[in-house]
Amino acid sequence: MTLVLDKFRTLLPSKLKTSPSGWISFNAPCCQHRGHAHDTRKRGGIIITDSIVYNCFNCKYSTGWKPGSPISGKFKSLCQWLGANDDDIKQLIFEAMKTESAEYQPETFVEKPTFTEKPLPEGALPLVEWLDAKLTADEEQKLVDVVEYVVARGHDPISKHFYWSPEPGYIDRVIVPFRYEGKIVGNTARKVREGKPKYLSDQHPFFVFNVDEQTEEHRYVLVVEGPFDALSIGGVALLTNEISDQQARIINNIGKEVIVIPDQDKAGTVLIDQANALGWSIAFPTWDDGVKDCADAVQKYGKLFVVVDAIKTATSNPAKIEIEKRKMLNKIALMENQND
Ligand SMILES: [Zn+2]
Repeated sequence: MTLVLDKFRTLLPSKLKTSPSGWISFNAPCCQHRGHAHDTRKRGGIIITDSIVYNCFNCKYSTGWKPGSPISGKFKSLCQWLGANDDDIKQLIFEAMKTESAEYQPETFVEKPTFTEKPLPEGALPLVEWLDAKLTADEEQKLVDVVEYVVARGHDPISKHFYWSPEPGYIDRVIVPFRYEGKIVGNTARKVREGKPKYLSDQHPFFVFNVDEQTEEHRYVLVVEGPFDALSIGGVALLTNEISDQQARIINNIGKEVIVIPDQDKAGTVLIDQANALGWSIAFPTWDDGVKDCADAVQKYGKLFVVVDAIKTATSNPAKIEIEKRKMLNKIALMENQND
């Protein structure tokens, strides 16, 4: 550990929230110095690993420090806003300088996840490329079923997200490639009719779907469970209802305010607890009873409503989350009784 990190830790306020993955949130000290209102919603976030990353989700101030670099002007300002005096700053600059020397050996590395490429199922091509292909009558019908399924779920069948293969086992499935940094690193193939298994997947553990599509202009990262939910609102998918440390890091590294939109079922409430522990915001959508996930909701209300509703109902206040979660559990129990 470098002394820069130790020194910096002493500057952090005592009132802060730390998540299991190491995300620390507290009232951002930057905003009032930058012409914004004082933050009272713990919108300042820091991750300290072998380096420091700071993001303010209120006024968007971001800065950091990593071993081997000097203290930047922006980072110095952050330290001063956190209460560092001239001596503190001098010490930080001096300790940072030590890490620039050739002898300096950092003790820990936090590796950026790498996902190796994985081939798609045999014969898989984007739906649009099949339009002029020579197919048998049966294959043709299966392809029509797949295209109809994609359209019925409100997606654009000619987008790069949907593939098909006439190979046995895949002929009645739509294949969704998992991309990461431009490469295909897995896929899931969903049956377009009743039948099991619903999904055939080839994926790396702790993968996050659709990170590549999170562009600069997005203000939030919307986190959902399933890939079709993610595509319907331009969010990312956990592909499960549990958040691993690696997934939390990948999502935090996108550098936006995180809003989790849980499925409206019991598994969704597990996700709520984990997201709460990470200090993320959770949306409690105002969808009608029986609308279970984002894909359903977008079908019924349209994408704009679903996204705005998620942003409006999102909260990171633990007491509020607990109350909303109870309401959700009551509603789920009620619906289960009605179905019996
Ligand atoms: Zn700020």
